[in-house]
Amino acid sequence: MSLWNKAKKAKTSTPEQSINTSRQNLNELVLKSIHEGVIIVGPNGNIRLANPAFCELSGRSLAELDDVFYDSVINLLDKTGNRISEGRNPINIALKNKEYGEVRDLDIVAADSNKNTPVSIIITPTHEENPNLIVTFRDIAQELKEERERSEFISTASHEMRTPVASIEGYLGLAMNPSTATVDERGMEFLTKAHEASQHLGRLFQDLLDTTKLDDGQIKARLEPVDVIALVKSIADGQIPNITAKGLGYQFGSGSVDQQLSGGKRIDQLIYASIDPDFLREVINNLIENAVKYTPTGWVTVNVRADNYNVQIIVEDTGIGVAREELSHIFQKFYRVDNRDTREIGGTGLGLYLVKQRVEAMNGRIWAESEIGKGTRFICLFPRISEEAYKQQRFYIDNQQAQGRENIDF
Ligand code: ADP
Repeated sequence: MSLWNKAKKAKTSTPEQSINTSRQNLNELVLKSIHEGVIIVGPNGNIRLANPAFCELSGRSLAELDDVFYDSVINLLDKTGNRISEGRNPINIALKNKEYGEVRDLDIVAADSNKNTPVSIIITPTHEENPNLIVTFRDIAQELKEERERSEFISTASHEMRTPVASIEGYLGLAMNPSTATVDERGMEFLTKAHEASQHLGRLFQDLLDTTKLDDGQIKARLEPVDVIALVKSIADGQIPNITAKGLGYQFGSGSVDQQLSGGKRIDQLIYASIDPDFLREVINNLIENAVKYTPTGWVTVNVRADNYNVQIIVEDTGIGVAREELSHIFQKFYRVDNRDTREIGGTGLGLYLVKQRVEAMNGRIWAESEIGKGTRFICLFPRISEEAYKQQRFYIDNQQAQGRENIDF
């Protein structure tokens, strides 16, 4: 029975109860009036409460949604129009890991009219041992349309501007080169500044182009089965010169979560996942570059951990940290934390946006944990695959490549 139905059954009340009741009425009024669809999902996955906006999005009546398993009444499609698997369902994920979750790349289909609505889904678990999940669905059709238009504009503009900037950078390089030009010390100082600024602009345009290409689906992840520890280690080790040049320490670690729990005993094991190695390279390089940039002294640590279901790649530093209220924003396009510590450090505010896009394109999730002055930890989570699945998929891909055919994504 839904909480609303239960509330309606209460008949006589004390004054204290009536204050509570009127509060409850107000709560109900809010839930009934807002445009966002809201449901509460119990720890067993059954819907305990739904508001009218959700009824409209899902095309179901309150009675149809009352105390039924969420997956039997909520039809979510991915961007290719296919119903998402249980493993990708954000409600299923939150029921398992009891953590906050946010996705905006799914459509909900109304059962009565078959209407598809692109939605942003935010899942907040309550603070209980077996939490209920508060799930909100926001219609983002208009938002996506505007984003597409903005994206088209940015893509064209950055494409057009990249060429003259490359030319400016090239000529400045020639002017600074003693074998092609003669400039005095002051002139060299100005040229160096202009050269740095043009390089920054070039990077910005490239980041913008990459962003819009992924936004438009022009670049797609090509997933293939990989040995995660070996791949992450080789990418991270490539950043050692960068890390040590700033005088920071570097550590790489691996192992399973279970091993950590069983007193830190390490048994080396192989961890596999379906990943696009080029995307992962960009993700890890970006996270390590940030770790170096925002860490004045201390360590950069990269870890690979796994349990039976998931693989976690963790990039951690002992740097300046990010304030709690900023953490949920740092993955947004152009967002840069603006304070005394960050103002001097250059950047475009696009790196983490690109990182998140790439992680999600590989069916993963990324989030950050941080404490000001102590450091920041970025955690990327991907579904783990078994050794058997790895071998089968690898065999298939190697065969395809030997015959010169295109890979299929895993
Ligand atoms: P930027 O080009 O500004 O580094 P990013 O998108 O990579 O852009 O990061 C967004 C913001 O998040 C940064 O401006 C910075 O304030 C914060 N940030 C990212 N990584 C770290 C980190 N490892 N430590 C502290 N702050 C970080």
